[in-house]
Amino acid sequence: MNVSETLSEVKNFIDGKFERNGQNAMDVLSPIDGSKISTLPLSSGLDVDSAVQAAKKAFPAWAAMTLKERVQIFFRYRALLEKHMEELTNLVHIENGKTYGEAKAEVEKSMELCEFAVSMPQIIVNEVQEVSKGVECRIERKPLGVVASITPFNFPNMVPHWTMPNALVLGNTMVMKPSEIVPLSTVRMAELLKEAGLPDGVFNIVNGGKDVVEAICDHKDIEAVSFVGSTKVAKIVYQRATSNLKRCVALGGAKNHLLVLPDANPEMTASNVVASMSGCAGQRCMAASVMVGVDKVQHIIDRMVDETKKLVPGDNLGSVISAEAKKRIEGYIAEAEANGAKILVDGRNTTVPGKEGGFYVGPTIIDYVTTDMSVAREEIFGPVISIIRAKDLDEAIAIENGSDYGNAAAVFTQSGGLAKEVIDRASAGMIGVNIGVPVPREPFSFGGWNESKFGVGDITGRSSIEFWTQNKKTTIKWNPEARTNWMS
Ligand code: NAD
Repeated sequence: MNVSETLSEVKNFIDGKFERNGQNAMDVLSPIDGSKISTLPLSSGLDVDSAVQAAKKAFPAWAAMTLKERVQIFFRYRALLEKHMEELTNLVHIENGKTYGEAKAEVEKSMELCEFAVSMPQIIVNEVQEVSKGVECRIERKPLGVVASITPFNFPNMVPHWTMPNALVLGNTMVMKPSEIVPLSTVRMAELLKEAGLPDGVFNIVNGGKDVVEAICDHKDIEAVSFVGSTKVAKIVYQRATSNLKRCVALGGAKNHLLVLPDANPEMTASNVVASMSGCAGQRCMAASVMVGVDKVQHIIDRMVDETKKLVPGDNLGSVISAEAKKRIEGYIAEAEANGAKILVDGRNTTVPGKEGGFYVGPTIIDYVTTDMSVAREEIFGPVISIIRAKDLDEAIAIENGSDYGNAAAVFTQSGGLAKEVIDRASAGMIGVNIGVPVPREPFSFGGWNESKFGVGDITGRSSIEFWTQNKKTTIKWNPEARTNWMS
């Protein structure tokens, strides 16, 4: 795999310039074939501080611009995403290993996120009321200052766009820490923002791992931290950032349950469940991980097995992210088998001719899983679905409710009443009815419940406006000589 000359060595982006920082470099591999595509600096707290100082310096002028002025830059930026769609799509494909079609959908979603950001002047109309004769109270939304965004490997282009456009349009300046496994898409993001006219210092990137994240959580001049990644790290980041008195929203992992009822449309259900568990090689926080089959659903399971035969690793099924991920996923399958589950479709030991160095796991369906097994409880993050059989809807809902996570849940049925029962009783932030990947689209916000999210509010949509701003309340007596007591 090859990337352009400028991407073959990732540098930090600070104050509008790419900087080589001379720190220990790490290799960036393409999971498609395991080849080295770039190197990445493992930055330190000093680099974080440089980025924060640049963001701090840029903040007053950026915050002083009107919202309408700031969004003009994002109209141009969105047009640049569209212009460079093919290149950006290829980049996601190469660094993450998902298929070209999946990568394209990701970049399209980034454009949609920018569309929400540029509509902010139509959404944010400040509140004003004459609270007593001649006296007015108003509330205005003001930016926080320097904010940070820490992102995971599975959506190198989209997840950075969950935070960056809204935070910036609302007047903040940002330090971003992309996943060290997929740092290339954010490099292009910085270049295109500059081309769109974003002033230097408003957006900065510091590359690296744990040290950078810890320095972000500890830096006194960072006001808010947004995190997306595994639950284990989300907890660490949430605790560390809030103990340093920052606001924080930290999205974690998932174990999404799809409840399949016997009256579900067999063809649609089978294709949806398989698409949900295998899309992006199962490395979506919205992926189906457990199917709870209620009563007689064998005919649907048989169709699911047929559906998986349409999936060809290296063609319409992408790779998983790394050799370690492949090993972990295959370990889960082996453990389930050893504990008595039945492997209906086995994706272990998959190699793709011509891409022998790549990290591939074929689609896997595990039946007769019980709730005590690891494959029923833990996030596998691969193209694997565990089927648990339930005698009725109450038992199925209890199984869903028993999960520590709560990102998404879905029900497949033709009965409106039964679907409503699941909508009301499932313990998850995002619910699907006859939809396997129930991602809310803008302006509806994205965020889970339970151990899938820590902090108040969601990460996108209207909810994010609360997160990225603070209210300024002003009380004004317009006519000072009037003897009105404003409290009267
Ligand atoms: P991860 O938690 O390993 O890494 C996320 C970020 O945290 C990266 O930038 C990484 O450098 C940093 N990090 C890793 N270990 C750290 C540590 N010990 N201390 C401080 N920082 C650390 O996650 P990942 O493997 O990149 O991404 C996959 C995970 O993200 C899955 O669990 C998936 O469900 C989750 N995810 C959740 C959502 C959501 O909306 N809830 C969306 C996308 C991904």
